[in-house]
Amino acid sequence: MQDTIAAVSTPNAAGAIGIIKISGPEAISVAGRVFTPSGSHLLSEAKGYSVHYGQIADLDEAICLVFRAPHSYTGEDVVEIQCHGGLYLTQQVLRLVLKAGASPAGPGEFTKRAFLNGKMDLSEAESVMGLIAAQGEQAANAAYHALEGSLSREIKSVSDTLVAASAHMAAWADYPDEDVEELDYGVLLKQFQSCKNKLQALCQKYDAGQAISSGVDTVIVGRPNVGKSTLMNLLLGKDRSIVTDIAGTTRDVIEETAVIGNVILHLSDTAGLHTSDDPVESIGIEMAEKRLRHADLILAVFDGNQALDGEDQRILDFCKDKPSIGIINKADLGNVVSEDKISPFVTKCITISANDPSSYDTLEHTLESILGTTDFDPSAAMLANERQLICVRKSLDCLNEAINAITGGMTMDAINVCVDAALEPLLELTGEKVSDTVIDKVFSTFCVGK
Ligand code: GDP
Repeated sequence: MQDTIAAVSTPNAAGAIGIIKISGPEAISVAGRVFTPSGSHLLSEAKGYSVHYGQIADLDEAICLVFRAPHSYTGEDVVEIQCHGGLYLTQQVLRLVLKAGASPAGPGEFTKRAFLNGKMDLSEAESVMGLIAAQGEQAANAAYHALEGSLSREIKSVSDTLVAASAHMAAWADYPDEDVEELDYGVLLKQFQSCKNKLQALCQKYDAGQAISSGVDTVIVGRPNVGKSTLMNLLLGKDRSIVTDIAGTTRDVIEETAVIGNVILHLSDTAGLHTSDDPVESIGIEMAEKRLRHADLILAVFDGNQALDGEDQRILDFCKDKPSIGIINKADLGNVVSEDKISPFVTKCITISANDPSSYDTLEHTLESILGTTDFDPSAAMLANERQLICVRKSLDCLNEAINAITGGMTMDAINVCVDAALEPLLELTGEKVSDTVIDKVFSTFCVGK
């Protein structure tokens, strides 16, 4: 029999309400040992979906929500005790609940039980974390739709097609004397191609989805005084970086997170790439180069009022093979740098004045077009993490082999081996066929209490 588990589900901080969640076969009797309803009834007799007012020992008044299996988040009996919030009180109530017979819940254990009890598949469980971690409206929206099954439905439509094809091929090959409908290679090819298109579309949208849900590591780089800090402040909407007209003011790497339209940017505003005798500044420059190499996106800033020099060229060389925006700044002072000098090295080049707030819109549109988030549809199926991406890529590889096997005139058995192999990672994605190790790994990233 499963343990009955308990944890504080609200943040470990002062707050108006604290929630202690209990789940498992003994949840209601454990709660009944610490909570006394105010009327004459017993908690053990409570119906599912009922709310009870009462007392937790001599600690606090509280409300108990009772859910009866299987109609609860975990699919088990669940009780949520809502008392006043705050570090001390919630921990004291949890202590009483543990003393009354519950065990401490591990990270994500409530959601893990929901998955194991068939309340949601693995990709939906992962989207619970996405919803909690969401920093923007679109990220929350996308995670919500994934929780509602947008990705699961897309994956299922592919796996259903593959299962049907595989069963048909097996029947055709194994029972030649039976009245099995003749297999048309052209029809199979079409079905596989359509599956391939769906999986490819998921992979193509992955980066845009990550930009919206997890954010993009972005480095702002440029010579001293070109306006990097001013740009950072424009993006953040506050004076976080020090803006002065003395070259080399931004010495260390400053990190901030900004939500620009749909996109989350994890920004670092760095020293430029010039050589310097100042040891502190040199360390900053070294760090800037390291960050440029690892960045997902580079915002390379140039002073439009000064001719490009060797340092500008070094920066452009860093931009070559990366998503990057060349920003010719200080447009209000006139322009000696034309976009055609920058464009060959960057993904997109724009000319702005970072000290003019209206430049924000230009930056927002450019970012969205580079990161592919302009037409982002949060209700569409989307891969949430590397685990899911790897599963889809593996499936695509095998599907390609199946297509090659058909066009190469291979035997039905050979084709079917590829189809089965394409199916496997999709079942791993949804958790229908997944090892305990993968399950443990997925839920280890959750917080306790979820
Ligand atoms: P950083 O060293 O690259 O971080 O440059 P700062 O952001 O500190 O800017 C250097 C100077 O340029 C400051 O005096 C800013 O006010 C000024 N500056 C920044 N952007 C613009 C702009 O678009 N137009 C004008 N006229 N001045 C700007």
